[in-house]
Amino acid sequence: MLRQLKMGWTLVLKMIKFNVASINCCTETEGPNKRLTIWFQGCTIRCKGCCNPDYQPLKPRNILSLEDLIKIIKVSQLNYNIEGVTYSGGEPTLQQNLPLLTAAIHKLGLGVISFTGKKYEDVSDILAGCDVVLDGKYIDSKRENKRKILGSINQRIIVLSDRYPNCEDWFFNNESKTVEINVSDYIFANGDAVL
Ligand code: SF4
Repeated sequence: MLRQLKMGWTLVLKMIKFNVASINCCTETEGPNKRLTIWFQGCTIRCKGCCNPDYQPLKPRNILSLEDLIKIIKVSQLNYNIEGVTYSGGEPTLQQNLPLLTAAIHKLGLGVISFTGKKYEDVSDILAGCDVVLDGKYIDSKRENKRKILGSINQRIIVLSDRYPNCEDWFFNNESKTVEINVSDYIFANGDAVL
């Protein structure tokens, strides 16, 4: 019976898929502490002035299984001592199996912060288990200039667990707005917008 259960879970790990636009294995600009960040592919919200228009089309990009993602996260934990994972996009809540990924990340002892362009109340099921949610669409005419990585002033920081008790301090620490540039096969920039 135990063996059957184990085989069942192994199959689930391989069968559950996510549509991923890109991954940064260790960044210090997508939330408190060192984090792995996953940008999911696909968003139907289409905010004017979206910072990631390439991640809007609803098309397969990099289809990774739950097992693949857990392996990548474990390697980042080992190599970079990451404290958590951030979901960005694209719209993370379009990934129907997100709660399983969140649960697997927590099992590794890591925290989870997620962006969503929707209202948290409308997607609380799919964001179940997240420690912090940054919600709301980007409104170009209401640009944020006080808080890090949030695009517009309507977006909320919703703290859902006691894992990041002082996380608002990180977002309001405006003195250290940061952009990271990674150069490998291609050039990849993330962090705060340079205005
Ligand atoms: S919700 Fe985010 S990814 Fe989607 S269009 Fe708006 S800014 Fe872009």
